[in-house]
This record gives sequence, structure tokens and C-alpha cells, in this order.
Amino acid sequence: MTLPTHARVSVIGAGMAGSDAALAIARHGVAVDLFEMRPVKMTPAHHTDRFAELVCSNSFGGDSKANAKGLLQAEMLAAGGLVMSSAQATRVPAGGAVAVDRERFGDLVTRTLREHPLVTVHTQEVTDIPDGVVVLASGPLTSDVLAERIRARVGMEFLGFYDAAAPVIDGDSIDMDVAYRKGRYGQAADYLNLPFTKEAYDHFFEALTAARAHVPHDWEKLEFFEGCVPIEELARRGYDTPRFGPMKPVGLEHPDTDRRPFAVAQLRQEDVAGRMWSLVGFQTGLKWGDQLGVVRSIPGLEEAEIVRYGVMHRNTYLCAPRLLDATMALRDHPDLFVAGVLAGTEGYLESSATGWLAGTNAARRVLGRPPIVPPEASMLGGLVRFLVSATPEGFQPMNANWGLVPVEPKSRQGPGKRERRERAYERGLDAFVGWLAEAGATELQRA
Ligand SMILES: Cc1cc2nc3c(=O)[nH]c(=O)nc-3n(C[C@H](O)[C@H](O)[C@H](O)COP(=O)(O)OP(=O)(O)OC[C@H]3O[C@@H](n4cnc5c(N)ncnc54)[C@H](O)[C@@H]3O)c2cc1C
Repeated sequence: MTLPTHARVSVIGAGMAGSDAALAIARHGVAVDLFEMRPVKMTPAHHTDRFAELVCSNSFGGDSKANAKGLLQAEMLAAGGLVMSSAQATRVPAGGAVAVDRERFGDLVTRTLREHPLVTVHTQEVTDIPDGVVVLASGPLTSDVLAERIRARVGMEFLGFYDAAAPVIDGDSIDMDVAYRKGRYGQAADYLNLPFTKEAYDHFFEALTAARAHVPHDWEKLEFFEGCVPIEELARRGYDTPRFGPMKPVGLEHPDTDRRPFAVAQLRQEDVAGRMWSLVGFQTGLKWGDQLGVVRSIPGLEEAEIVRYGVMHRNTYLCAPRLLDATMALRDHPDLFVAGVLAGTEGYLESSATGWLAGTNAARRVLGRPPIVPPEASMLGGLVRFLVSATPEGFQPMNANWGLVPVEPKSRQGPGKRERRERAYERGLDAFVGWLAEAGATELQRA
């Protein structure tokens, strides 16, 4: 194949997303300029000059067929993704999770890219968006100057600098015998309401006040807007503060008894299909183990599964539903692809997967081929569809979870949750592998 002389793509950031993007582009025979500022300029969380540095845990999540991350891992292995195949090669025993030796993992990713003849590494901070086809993958800690440039390009209001998120619950794990649908004061019944008696509220309040919060680094410290105060901070202000605030029962009388509960926790739909529900006003910085305990102390959520934990920390990300299309390009700037946390994904694995897709489509763009989008049944397909179709107001980054792909609904006689998820895994992986072959992606990846 003769390539046009301008067949180059710039990738900004050699983290989880940028590393996968760079290799995907190079495997298409397209030259890559890979820009990484470390070690010339460090972020507050990275410590080395290795590509794809794991800033915290060394785990990519469980790999079972009942685990949503397991499906995304299998898809990325099928696609030949750099991060996932390097994780596989440097795996350490960790029960059912894919955990890695972080030094060997980082060395392998770095070596693979540095030794690739089509990849040119530039160790420098990028202070403006280059011309041509670009993959922006500078992550949650994008340097300030570049963040300002991105902001200027996409619109000031579309780049968030922090994440104040409430936990999101798997709809399958909510007890629908307890929850009732109702909007406050008879407005549209878009919410699920979980009613508290005084005893239930006492139990919840005790769990909430005993739970431990994540201690932020200095650079993470946030000043809260009054409408965005974490639920644990409201509880610190007094016993009644949460129930006079986000847990206010007024206008939410129970439809069966017409009685007003002592307090109410409301759930708002996060996705079109109603598979994910977020707890309204429950933004929280509680440690994840303690957070699960607090959530499960709410009536109707005793068996809750959290698909995305609440967090309060600095995070740079775009409002994907307003800006992005499912190929990972910006709708108004088709030469500009975005991946990783900046594109609204959360997690090492998710960032690398969107990096692979952005890189693949960036390469296809310079080669004059149409972009590709993974099928709906696959976890990557579900994730990118969520990014472009989520409610833009209050949008927060999302990780792999079963709410993103079609899973058979639960029924009293039907198969259990594990089996339904395993079937979704098989369906998703089959669809993804078939799509790779159809799109010619495997052939090119091996080139
Ligand atoms: C403190 C912290 C802890 C986290 N812990 C976990 C965890 O345990 N597990 C998990 O799954 N996820 C975790 N995450 C979330 C997320 O999955 C990771 O941050 C992940 O690394 C994001 O991938 P990314 O490619 O978007 O960004 P990154 O992996 O951060 O990569 C971005 C790269 O861009 C570089 N860069 C930034 N600005 C510029 C510039 N102007 N010029 C050149 N280079 C630049 C950075 O140096 C970095 O190497 C954590 C996030 C944070 C902030």
C-alpha cells in the first residue's frame, strides 16, 4: 500500500489511552508523533517516565465472564490492544483479577512504542493543539496550559475540572418491591423513590457518620459549591440536614398509603434503557468499601451493586455527550479525536480501550477509510454509545458495567444474574470479534 506523505497522526499523552492509540495507528502503517511531557514535567500523581504508568492500583479488574471488565478485557485482547496484551504478559496472581507487576508492565508498553519504527517519541509538554489529525489523550491531569487551549477550542463550558459524582447503581440490583416511581409534587414520575421510616433513617445516618472519607492530596482539595456538598458533609452538619436537603420527603407521599415517609432517597435514570440509576444529591468522597456499606443501608438497596462509585477529586474531562461522536472524534472538529478520561471514560482499561478506538479511527481518517464503531452488544460499543447519548447536564466519566450492554431482564422463573451476565459476555464478545473481522480491523492490526 502506498501511503500519502501526510499520513501522520499526533498523539498527545502516553498514558493508558495514548499508548493504545499510538500502537493502533502505527499498526495501520501510519506514522505517529507521540508527545509525553514526563519526566520533563510531571503530573501531581505520576512518579516515573514510563508510558501507561499506573497511578494507583495495579489491577485492571476481574476477568470472569460475569464481570463487565472481564468482557472489555477480552475485547481488547481480541483487538490486540497494547495495554491489555502487556497486562496479560506481566500478570501477577491476584485472585480473580488481572493485576500486573507495574514496573514490568510499564517497561513493556514503553519499549513496544519506543522500538516501533513508525513511532517518534517527543518528550515535551504540548502547549497547543497541533495541526493535522490528532488524538488528545492527556488524561485527568492534563497540564494547565493545554487544558486552557482545549477549552478555547471546544467552548469554555465543556471542559470540567473536577468530578463530584454520586454512586450509580445497577438497576438489576434495586428492590423494586420497595421502590416507587414518583416525581415531586406530582411532576413526571421519572424518579425511583426509596422511603425511610425513622428507624431506617437512624440506621442509615449511623452508617453515614461512621464511614471514612478519602483523604485528598493537597492538589485535589476542592471548594464545594453549596449545591454540590458531599452527603457525608451534610450529615456532619446535623441529623436533619440530609433529610431537609437531598432526602427531603415533601411531595413524595407513598402512592399506596398516601403517607409521607420520614426521608426519601431518590434515584435518577442515567441511561436511556434505565439500567443505571444514580442517587440524587449523594455526591460523596467516601472510601469505596465504606460507601458500599452506606448505600446498602438504604431501604431497597440492601443488595445494591455500585457500577460507578461516587468520587470527589480533580478530573479534567470533556462533556462527551455534547461534543463527541461514537468514533471518538469531536463532532465539530473531525480531525480531532479524544480518548481516555478526557473523553469521559473512567478506569485504566476503559481509557486504553477508547484509546485503541480513537487511534484506529484517526489512522483510518488519514488513510481515507470510513470510521468504525464497535457493535452495541460489546462493552466498548456500549461505552462509546453511553458517552455520546448520556444526559449532558452533570455528565460524569463512566466505567465498564453491565448497564451499558443488553442483558436479559430478570424474571422470577428465568436464569439468575450470573447466568444472564455470562450470556451477555458471550454475545458481546462474539459480536465484537465478528465486527473486528468485518471491519478489516484484525487484518490491519496484525500488519
Ligand atoms: C489520582 C488518580 C488515581 C487513579 N486510580 C485509578 C485506579 O486505581 N484504577 C483505575 O482503573 N483508574 C484510576 N484512575 C482513573 C484513570 O483510569 C487513570 O487516571 C488513567 O490513567 C487514565 O488514562 P488516560 O490515558 O486518560 O490518562 P493518563 O494515563 O493520565 O495519561 C495521560 C498522559 O498525558 C500526559 N500529559 C498531560 N498533559 C500533557 C501535555 N500538555 N503534554 C504532553 N503530555 C501530557 C501525562 O503525563 C500522562 O502520561 C485514577 C485517576 C487519578 C487521577
